[in-house]
Amino acid sequence: MSVMLGCIADDFTGATDLAGMLVQAGMRTVQMIGVPAHPLPNDVDAVVIALKSRTNPADEAVADSLAALQWLRDAGCRQIYFKYCSTFDSTDQGNIGPVTDALMSALDTSFTIACPAFPENKRTVFKGHLFVGDTLLSESGMRDHPLTPMTDSNLVQVLQRQTKNRVGLIQHSTVAAGAQAIRDCIAQLQAEGTRVAVVDAISNDDLLQIGAACADLPLVTAGSGIALGLPQNFRAQGLLAQQDATQNLPSAPGLRAIVCGSCSQATQAQLADLISRGTPAYAIDPLRLAAGDDVVADALAWAAPRLQNGPVAVYATADANRVKSIQEKLGVGQAGALVEDALARIAQGFVALGVRQLIVAGGETSGAVVTALNVRGLRIGPQIDPGVPWTVSLGDTPIALALKSGNFGSVDFFSKAWDLLP
Ligand code: ADP
Repeated sequence: MSVMLGCIADDFTGATDLAGMLVQAGMRTVQMIGVPAHPLPNDVDAVVIALKSRTNPADEAVADSLAALQWLRDAGCRQIYFKYCSTFDSTDQGNIGPVTDALMSALDTSFTIACPAFPENKRTVFKGHLFVGDTLLSESGMRDHPLTPMTDSNLVQVLQRQTKNRVGLIQHSTVAAGAQAIRDCIAQLQAEGTRVAVVDAISNDDLLQIGAACADLPLVTAGSGIALGLPQNFRAQGLLAQQDATQNLPSAPGLRAIVCGSCSQATQAQLADLISRGTPAYAIDPLRLAAGDDVVADALAWAAPRLQNGPVAVYATADANRVKSIQEKLGVGQAGALVEDALARIAQGFVALGVRQLIVAGGETSGAVVTALNVRGLRIGPQIDPGVPWTVSLGDTPIALALKSGNFGSVDFFSKAWDLLP
C-alpha cells in the first residue's frame, strides 16, 4: 500500500509536531528533512517534508513547497497537507497565502481550508479570530515576535492580505453541527466564489468534524491539530489499518548520550535533575571555544570511558545571566554558532564511539546535529512528552534520536526517555 497523506511543513520542529500527531492517530509516519533525494520505505502511511519556508522570501518558499509537492505526488500521496504554525506565523508578504495559492493551482483545486486551531495547546479559532490561551493573538507574546509579529487576530483579514483568492469563514455554529453541515457550507462558499475558508475550532471534537468534512479536499492547510481528524478518512475508505503506529520503530542498539544546547528554563531544570541523579555531565565553555581550545576533543576524551557505563551528557546550557555575559563578549550570533558547531561535532564523535541512542535538547541545536550526522529522514515513534517523539534515522546506520525543543518535556525528561525506546 502506498503512502496516503503528504505533508509540507514550513519548519523543522513544526514538522516533528505534525508527524508525532499523525503517529498518535495511527499513521506510520516518516519526516524527511528537505525535499528528499531518496525513495521512501515501503511501510509508511504518511510523510512530512520539513522545509525552512516560514520566514524566507515568498518566492523561495513557493518554489520549495512546489518541489515538495511534486515529490509527494510522485510518491502517490492522495491528499496534501500544508502545515504552518498554530499561531499563523506570517507577514502580509506571506508565506501562508502565497504557498497556499501556489499549491492550489499546482493541484488544480478551487477550494481549501485554513485552520491553525490546536485546542490542546490552547490555540482556538472563534469567529475567525485566533486566541492564544485566553488572549487574542494580537495581544499575546506573538505581537512582539522578531520575524512574524502578529498584530491582527482576524485570520480572514490576515490571510486576505496575503492572497488574491477570496477568503471566507466557516463559523463555529456550522462546525458544531457536524461534518455534513461543514460540507454544505463549503459547497455554498464555493458557489459564492470563496476559495479559502478559515474554519473555527475550539475543541478536539471540532477538529474531528472538520477532518471528516475534508476527506475529499486535495489540499488542506492547517496547524497540526487537523491531523487528529484526517486518518479516520483513510480508515473509512479501507486504506488504513487499525494499528499502533507508535510501535513502528526499528531498534537501534548502542551506547547512550545527551547533547544539550538549549538554555531554556525547562532544559536547565531537566539538566539539574539529570545531574542530581548521578549522570556524568560535561560543561562546554563558549569562551574556551572562542579562544580556539579543542573543547570537542576534550569532551570526547572525557566521555569515551564513561559511555560504557551508561548515558553521559555534554552541555552548553547556562542560566540567563551567564548566557548574557557570554553574548556580550562574543556577540549573540557568534556565541550561538560556536556552541552549535561544537555540539554538532561532539554528536558526530559520539556516533563514532558507538552511540546509537541520542537525545538533543534545543531546536537550533537539533538542526545542527541532524545536519552534522547527515540525517535525511526520521521514522517517528512513541511520544516521550507532547511534541517530542522518539525517532530513528533512515539509512544504513540507524540512530535513535529524541529532538527536544527548548521548553518541551517534564523535569525528568532526560532519564525517563530511555524507557520508551523499543
Ligand atoms: P531552544 O530550543 O531552547 O531555543 P536552541 O538550540 O534553539 O534552544 O537555541 C539555543 C541557542 O543558544 C543555540 O544557538 C546555542 O548554540 C546557544 N547557546 C547554548 N549555550 C550557550 C551559552 N552558554 N552561551 C551562549 N549561547 C549558548
